Amino acid sequence: SSMAVSNAYKDQVSVRLYQQGDDEIYLYKLHLIEELKAALENPNSPLFMNYQPKLNIKTGKVDKLEALIRWINNKGDFVNPELFINLAEKSGLITTLTRWVILEVIKQVDHWNQLGHKFKVSINLSAQDIQHEQFIEYLLTTLSNFNVEPVQITLELTERDLADNEQLVAERLFYLKSLGFEVSVDDYGIGQSSLAKLKNLPVDELKIDKTFILKLDQCQQDQDIVASTISLGHKLGLRVVAEGVENKASLELLEQFQCDYAQGYYLSRPISAEKFIEWYESDEHVN
Ligand code: C2E
Ligand code: MG
Ligand code: MG
Ligand code: MG
Repeated sequence: SSMAVSNAYKDQVSVRLYQQGDDEIYLYKLHLIEELKAALENPNSPLFMNYQPKLNIKTGKVDKLEALIRWINNKGDFVNPELFINLAEKSGLITTLTRWVILEVIKQVDHWNQLGHKFKVSINLSAQDIQHEQFIEYLLTTLSNFNVEPVQITLELTERDLADNEQLVAERLFYLKSLGFEVSVDDYGIGQSSLAKLKNLPVDELKIDKTFILKLDQCQQDQDIVASTISLGHKLGLRVVAEGVENKASLELLEQFQCDYAQGYYLSRPISAEKFIEWYESDEHVN
C-alpha cells in the first residue's frame, strides 16, 4: 500500500539530524513518492521517455541513443529526474519504474525496427535493478514479446552500482553479456573505482562523466584526463562515449582524441521519439 511506501521512506530519513526547512522538504519528498507511485499505476501515465542521440564520431552517423525518463507532475511541472530516481530508489519504487522504462523502450525500439532503423538504445539501471531476482526474467519476457534483439539494448550502470554487491552483479552481467546485451559504465571518472577493477567485468562501453566534458575546450587538465581515459579505454577494448558535449570545439577535440561517441546538447537535447525520428530523417544532424 502507499502507506507502506511512505513509512519505509520515513524510517530511512528520520535518522538525519533536524535542520531548519527539513520538515517542508521531507513532506515534499513524501508527497512526490505518493505521486510517483500513482503515476506508475496510471495507464494514462504522466511519465514518458525522451531519447538523446549518440553520434558515432568516425562515421558521422547516429546509431545509438540513450533513453531518459521524464515526468510532468499534477501541477504541470517537470520533476528533476535525478530527484525522483533517487526517491524511487529509497522508497523501493525503482523496480516498478525500471520495468516501466524497459517496456516503453523495447516497444519503441521495435517500432523503429519496423521503420527500418536498427538503433541501439541504452537504459539506465540502478543497483537494485541488477540485483533484483526477477530482473533478467522480466527483460527477456518483454523482449520475447517484440522483435528486438538483446544486442540492441545497452545497460548503463554507474561505477557505484557496479561496486555494490560485486560478486552478484558480476555474475548477472556475465549472464546478460552471454545473452547478447551490452554493458556501459555511466558517469565514469567521478567514482572511486579504477579501470583496473573494470577489467574483470564484461563491460563494452565507458561513458566519461560530463564534468570532464562540459568545459573540455577551455580546460587543459580536462583534456589530459579525457585523452588518457580514451586511450586506456581503447587498450582495454572498450568503446568510449563522452557525455555533455556542448560545443563544436569540444567535439573536435574528442575527434582528435579518437573518442568513439559523443552525446550532448551540441548535437541534440533529449527529445521525444517522434521529434528524434523527424530530426534523424531530415538529415539536419549530418554536418
Ligand atoms: P545520466 O544517465 O548520466 O544521463 C545523462 C544526463 O546528462 C541526462 O540528464 C541528460 O539530459 C544530461 N545531458 C546530456 N547532454 C548534456 C549536455 O550537453 N549538457 C548538460 N549539462 N547535460 C547533458 P537527465 O535526463 O536529467 O537525467 C539525469 C540522471 O537521472 C541520469 O544521468 C540518470 O542517472 C538518471 N536517469 C534518467 N532517466 C533514467 C531512467 O530511465 N532510469 C534510471 N534508473 N535513471 C534515470
Ligand atoms: Mg546514463
Ligand atoms: Mg547516471
Ligand atoms: Mg551519465
